[in-house]
Amino acid sequence: MGTASLEKRYTPMIILLLVAALVTVLGMWAVDRTGTSRGGASAKGTEIEGSSEQFHWKLVTAWPKNFPGVGAGPENFARFVHEMSGGRLTMRVYGAGEIVPAFEVFDAVSQGVADAGHGAAYYWKGKIPSSVFFTSIPFGMNAQEINGWLHYGGGLELWREAYAPFNIIPFAGGNSGTQMAGWFNREINSMEDIKGLKMRVPGLAGEVFAAAGGTAVRISGSELYTSLQTGVIDATEWAGPYNDLALGLHQVAKYYYFPGWHEPGSTMELIVNKQSFEALPPDLQAIVTYAARAMNQDMLDEFTARNNAALRQLVDEHGVQLRRLPDDVLLGLWRSSENVMQKLVEEDPMAAKVYASYKSFYDGVRSYHHISEQAYINARDKMLDSQAE
Ligand code: CA
Repeated sequence: MGTASLEKRYTPMIILLLVAALVTVLGMWAVDRTGTSRGGASAKGTEIEGSSEQFHWKLVTAWPKNFPGVGAGPENFARFVHEMSGGRLTMRVYGAGEIVPAFEVFDAVSQGVADAGHGAAYYWKGKIPSSVFFTSIPFGMNAQEINGWLHYGGGLELWREAYAPFNIIPFAGGNSGTQMAGWFNREINSMEDIKGLKMRVPGLAGEVFAAAGGTAVRISGSELYTSLQTGVIDATEWAGPYNDLALGLHQVAKYYYFPGWHEPGSTMELIVNKQSFEALPPDLQAIVTYAARAMNQDMLDEFTARNNAALRQLVDEHGVQLRRLPDDVLLGLWRSSENVMQKLVEEDPMAAKVYASYKSFYDGVRSYHHISEQAYINARDKMLDSQAE
């Protein structure tokens, strides 16, 4: 009886002690788990990981390695991200051909061979016809206008929709400003002079050029000089004085034509593999996003600052003949552009959707720029030119 009553008295106490011990052990285990967790789902675990984990990206480009202007964009972007993240996200930037050739940048990023890429959307028009709108279209918007459309007019959302099936998130990654019409070895006095001409001209402009009787060829920047020198092509466009001088195109062509009807303000692109982007914690995703935005503006600023000095060097030191395309040639190319655009929107529903957005924004901004930017530039030229006389 004594033993039985003792058991009755102590059993609840033993159970209490066992429960207390279990709670203590579980508590210690939980603290230990939180402190050393890698990839834990708890908020605290993610926070700790987000502030310490290192990421390294491969960034492939469509440009020759160490190329200024368009090539400086991705180098600057990698530096911006490195500085802003305190080295938590670093990137190695590869020139065209180092991992993949220029025209395989999109596939490399889509398939995760590289985490990111830098090039131009219109290079992929064979795969995505609507991509031409995200670089530049003949007689379309200039740099300031296209930046407005992309970031405040719905353009970037459409760009992301177009690239989503390919596992890629696009960002605007620089702008050349209005380009030069290109390099020719004979004068262009009428539409007849375009007939039979073999020219490197990408994007929708290539189709316009072909519809006007020329032959458009797709060649990457690295091969332009040799192609023009050996007569593979008769003419080429690239970007503008600063970047064209760097390619040495003045050594293989005599006439330098303007205005850049075909690329009035070309946006470069930064493309990021979806899984690579989503693997980043939110603060690094934000850093990638805003570093791209900084690169986008920075490239335009650099071209704006350097183009004129490069043009003076081309004309004054290298004897380049500067020529304006005659109005009737521009009119012929514009008519051809209208036909090519109509065909594009009829054949591709996504191109039709993007064109509707682009056109609506373009009509509005053109109307306002008529009485702002354009009216001011006209007035400025009139005053300053008359003063110079
Ligand atoms: Ca170009």
